[in-house]
Amino acid sequence: MTTPENASFADLALSAPLLKVLQEVGYESPSPIQAASIPALLEGNDILGMAQTGTGKTAAFALPMLNKIDLKKKHPQVLVLAPTRELAIQVAEAFQVYARHMPGFHVLPIYGGQSIDIQLKHLRRGAQVVVGTPGRVMDHLRRKSLSLEKLDSFVLDEADEMLRMGFIEDVEWILEHAPKQRQVALFSATMPAAIKKVTQKYLNNPVEIKIKSKTTTVENIDQRYIQVTPRFKIDALTRILESEPFDGVIIFARTKTATVELAEKLEARGYASSALNGDMSQQLRERTINNLKKSKIDIVVATDVAARGIDVSRITHVINYDMPHDTESYVHRIGRTGRAGRTGTAILFSSPRERRMLFAIEKATKAPLKEMQLPCAETIASKRVEQFKQTITDTMESVDLTFFTQLVDEYTQSQDISAHEAAAALVYLCQKDRPLQYKEEIPAPRESRERNSHSNRNERPSRGERGERRPRRQQSDVALTTYRIEVGRDQGVTPRDIVGAIANEAGIDSQHIGHIKLHNDFSTVDLPAGMPKDMLQHLKRVRIRNNPMRISLDQGGFKK
Ligand code: AMP
Repeated sequence: MTTPENASFADLALSAPLLKVLQEVGYESPSPIQAASIPALLEGNDILGMAQTGTGKTAAFALPMLNKIDLKKKHPQVLVLAPTRELAIQVAEAFQVYARHMPGFHVLPIYGGQSIDIQLKHLRRGAQVVVGTPGRVMDHLRRKSLSLEKLDSFVLDEADEMLRMGFIEDVEWILEHAPKQRQVALFSATMPAAIKKVTQKYLNNPVEIKIKSKTTTVENIDQRYIQVTPRFKIDALTRILESEPFDGVIIFARTKTATVELAEKLEARGYASSALNGDMSQQLRERTINNLKKSKIDIVVATDVAARGIDVSRITHVINYDMPHDTESYVHRIGRTGRAGRTGTAILFSSPRERRMLFAIEKATKAPLKEMQLPCAETIASKRVEQFKQTITDTMESVDLTFFTQLVDEYTQSQDISAHEAAAALVYLCQKDRPLQYKEEIPAPRESRERNSHSNRNERPSRGERGERRPRRQQSDVALTTYRIEVGRDQGVTPRDIVGAIANEAGIDSQHIGHIKLHNDFSTVDLPAGMPKDMLQHLKRVRIRNNPMRISLDQGGFKK
């Protein structure tokens, strides 16, 4: 499935307040998943979207749902279930942004680990959209503080994640409590059998939306990726630009606003750059591309749409500053380099959350992307020194320095100092904006990428069902304590149930949940040390397979 060439949000029959906000946030055109989902949901269909994070799936359901909301009514009209509290918050925030021009709109995230009293207060006040994790939503349904009676739409976000975390039965229980005549949108990156069963049982003739990943080979392009957290992207980018020998560069950003901001930041750092986006007139766009061709500028920061078809042979580098929405647009983007029989370099910025798209890209291009390390401060410093020396040489060769030599002579004689002391002071002044003794380090993302077996790259590693769960990753700097919970094999508990319950109810990221060992009537689990008392109290009451966990510190262990 591809986006039609001329697709625009305006064609999608969205309301004026939504179109206005899309203009403000700078989305230029719908991503493929949006182009397909928005009309289908607006028409009232159920949908089954096979899409992962980064494809724009949140807006794919949030926009049509918002379009249909009746602001005069305060009861929940849309319920979104998400596997983790982080995602629930993220989705709720997205709704809030997209509903910026819809007065009276309320969205409420509800998840474990947050005070239930606060949630009860907010629920009483009314919210048209509720975004929650399954455990907490069930809790509220049981207490009758949340009613799904008048629910119009239901979204299951990252359904395979919910399955992986052991929530699928809870999800089904919640679905059973929703009216029969509701719309369901289910999103999942993969389609395990259990999810297929849910779709068959609860979705009514769904429109299936799958982003096709064509396989393509791009042999003359050196493809690399770099792990970087969003906060440090701009520093990472400038470092790459300082250390990579480049001629022309195209940097891809997701939004029109981002292209302008980034081009301005690069200008401020001394790079001849311009933005290229759909807000610019055709004439201005052509002029920008011409400037790049004629080396009047070296860097163009573009959106996908604006960069379509650019053919400039001096482009040595394509930098995917923001992850593309699908593998096809990745292939389009990197095709801007390596033209006219030349070789090119493509560098992809990837945050830990975007790992899946990275795998999908590797599959589509049939080429593993090489991990690239960010050039260290020392390398940058020595590059700068080298360049600085070259600038001195170039200046001596090309400029008449008579006046300046006389000035230096005069100064050094009057001050009784040597010429090289004066030169050192001048060098110091010249490098202030770009220090030659560069020392800043950029921290690596905390979660580094896992390379699984080649064939299984698209899947997350599955957890052992044999009663042992090894932590996916042991964070060396997180001290773990062993806790005991009073449920085990006899209660039919699996490690996945335990991870799910703890991750959701205590808001502990599943990667920080350590080794789990199941015994017949109890289990042990390693968790970050220093769990707050109220969280422990809360977890004691949390039920796994209908048995209270009754968590307590295991006698014995403080481990590192
Ligand atoms: P998601 O897949 O929902 O996690 O979205 C990934 C990112 O893409 C978010 O930062 C969105 O703000 C952004 N995004 C979503 N739709 C578009 C669009 N049509 N154009 C540009 N950016 C978008």
